[in-house]
Amino acid sequence: MRLSRAFLPVLKESPSDAQIVSHKLMLRAGLVRQTAAGIYAWLPLGFRVLKKIEQIVREEQDRAGSLEMLMPTIQSADLWRESGRYDAYGPEMLRIRDRHDREMLFGPTNEEMLTALFRDDVRSYRDLPRTLYHIQWKFRDEVRPRFGVMRGREFLMKDAYSFDLDEAGARQSYYTQLLAYLRTFQRLGIRAVPMKAASGPIGGDLSHEFIVLAPTGESEVFYDASYEEMDWSGSDLQYGDVAGLRALFDRIGQTYAATDETHDEARWSEVPATSQRTGRGIEVGHIFYFGTKYSDAMGLRVSGQDGGMVTPHMGSYGIGVSRLVGAIIEASHDEAGIVWPDAVAPWRVGLVTMRADDGPSASAADGLYRKLHDAGVETLYDDRDERGGVKLGSMDLIGLPWQVIVGPRGVAAGTVELKNRRTGECQELSAESALERLTA
Ligand code: ATP
Ligand code: MG
Repeated sequence: MRLSRAFLPVLKESPSDAQIVSHKLMLRAGLVRQTAAGIYAWLPLGFRVLKKIEQIVREEQDRAGSLEMLMPTIQSADLWRESGRYDAYGPEMLRIRDRHDREMLFGPTNEEMLTALFRDDVRSYRDLPRTLYHIQWKFRDEVRPRFGVMRGREFLMKDAYSFDLDEAGARQSYYTQLLAYLRTFQRLGIRAVPMKAASGPIGGDLSHEFIVLAPTGESEVFYDASYEEMDWSGSDLQYGDVAGLRALFDRIGQTYAATDETHDEARWSEVPATSQRTGRGIEVGHIFYFGTKYSDAMGLRVSGQDGGMVTPHMGSYGIGVSRLVGAIIEASHDEAGIVWPDAVAPWRVGLVTMRADDGPSASAADGLYRKLHDAGVETLYDDRDERGGVKLGSMDLIGLPWQVIVGPRGVAAGTVELKNRRTGECQELSAESALERLTA
């Protein structure tokens, strides 16, 4: 993408209405613009990041055997009357009337809808277990939308729902999602620690929140440092491995991690002092098992193996896709701007001409841009006729993993500068070597 043709509005000043660093940076670097309280337009840069996060979430769900579908944003109130949640949900639900005066709503979540879809088409135990998911916009009329996309009113969520014949099956589905979540967050380049959540409507130990550590987080967290060493993507644990998944769950249960809501001083004091980590965190995912709450209320029953009828056990599993954009920035930035983890960077390389009006530099940079493009390296090319210093400042702010800087002096000597955004390390090398490094 050539910056001279892009829509990438960068602000020099920090917007005064933003309180936390990720919100400030998302506005300054042109990722989003607020269009109404808690509602955001995703500009091209922010949209690229959102799509990358979404794609990683999707790939890890697919690997875990979840089936993707898409449910609508608008739902009928009657559906929610069936579960009894229409009245219970309260003012967070955006209620709408259509031209025929029918009561509708903008979905805050989809348990009811999927339970109804399942009820209407699934008859037999042979069709279970299944986990289905979608990645769709939700609306919750939060009392205090704040911190930009972190607590918006409209936000993008991946929500998955599992259906099993019994509690043992539902536990397997839960453990499967637990592993899928650990792998998803690791691939996104962030550390998200699973923390036992306040137990849901039916109690039990099957509710975890995934918390990204960041000083501006809304909850206080306590965890064992061994979470910092764990490698989920590298582990060869397979999704069908019943004993292996159970062992994973037990290990998580034994390794302390809790938010202030569930913190247990007695257990905490057993964690060696050198391993105790405290701080603040942002909830980016939440998984839980709720038994037959919805299947009971909505009459979802299937014929069992022995001829009787069975009420499926369900769980639901959410990831805040749009919140993650903010959470990743909270966890990965410096004085100069955003520092994107490779996996979610909007482009891999930022190519900058220090003097667009210098013929040889411009043609060297043009040539390099073509080659990067041909090699499939996602590149943002700042070809604008702007001061070099300004362009470098914007590149740092936007935070792409690599910068290639082309200036008249280097071009005369046959070199370009290659800068690593995270470490700040700079290297002068030939354009060919830079290309080799970036395509390796
Ligand atoms: P919170 O406690 O932060 O209000 P929640 O517990 O109500 O969230 P869930 O119903 O568990 O949220 O939703 C699943 C995920 O959706 C959350 O883990 C979070 O990442 C994301 N999410 C929830 N509410 C919002 C919001 N208002 N803006 C952005 N993301 C949200
Ligand atoms: Mg939650």
